Amino acid sequence: MNYTEKIREIAARLLENGQVDMVMAWEKGDLEYQTIPFIARTVDEVSRIVCDEYSIHNLSNYLLRYRDGKEKIAIVVKGCDSRGIVRLLEDNQIARDRLYIIGITCDGVKDPLRAMRQHSGFEKVEKPEDGLAAKCLDCRQPNPVIYDELLGEEQTPRGGEDRFARIAEIEQMSADERYKFFESLFSTCIRCYACRQACVACNCRTCIFDETRPQWVGRETSISDNFMYHLVRASHMAGRCVECGECERVCPVNIPLMLVNRKLIKDVNEFFGPYEAGMEYVEGRKPPLSVYRENDPDDFL
Ligand code: SF4
Ligand code: SF4
Ligand code: SF4
Repeated sequence: MNYTEKIREIAARLLENGQVDMVMAWEKGDLEYQTIPFIARTVDEVSRIVCDEYSIHNLSNYLLRYRDGKEKIAIVVKGCDSRGIVRLLEDNQIARDRLYIIGITCDGVKDPLRAMRQHSGFEKVEKPEDGLAAKCLDCRQPNPVIYDELLGEEQTPRGGEDRFARIAEIEQMSADERYKFFESLFSTCIRCYACRQACVACNCRTCIFDETRPQWVGRETSISDNFMYHLVRASHMAGRCVECGECERVCPVNIPLMLVNRKLIKDVNEFFGPYEAGMEYVEGRKPPLSVYRENDPDDFL
């Protein structure tokens, strides 16, 4: 994937004619396998823009930093990132007319951490897809679902129909087996909140996990506090997770968070579906569990 020159041209045009105040893209980091988020605000800065095989960050999350402003923002989005834009629009986090969306079709990006391990000889590259990020091996939407300008040829999704197969296996476990399974996963969580910070759907201004009066969730890395964190995080994602895979990618202890996200996606599909979050933006439309009617069943309360 290399859209660098085309994106520089578009960015220069948009900044020069005053159509936008900034362009969100990526620039090269210190190492060959690092490409990091970058915001160009002047035509002179456009030459720093890079869009290559390591442009892995979902930039739509960065729009939250500007949600209270008035700037017009151009943003480059891959397929998965574009679903994040839909998430923000549906959640009223930013107005559509403040955005100029440059969509790029995507044949996969490489994971810089894997590249670093491969570079250092800790991991072998045996097949071409060995370098691809885990989220790209299971990509369901490589083509942007919302854009003002589109670059690239249409790509075929890689994700198979069996993305719930592992979930179904876990559902078959006994309650004790399931407890042990999740205990072993979540006992390693260090509560760094990187998964929350990277998530476009975690966009509350006040997060329950930061509150101290009252302190809803304990801050120890004990298994009960960790369970509580992950249960609350997962349930807040129900019907809203756009499967961008960023939470799992950034976890420093490799907790497979997509397992939990997919369980909620599977349940929402079964109860309200079929439903895929963030696949289409229709003004005023809300995801399941985001609207309330007085006659909703609530016998469980
Ligand atoms: S998940 Fe899909 S759209 Fe996103 S970076 Fe990977 S291949 Fe591209
Ligand atoms: S929960 Fe994870 S996969 Fe879902 S939207 Fe947030 S970062 Fe993306
Ligand atoms: S990124 Fe990983 S370690 Fe950090 S809070 Fe999330 S699950 Fe826990």
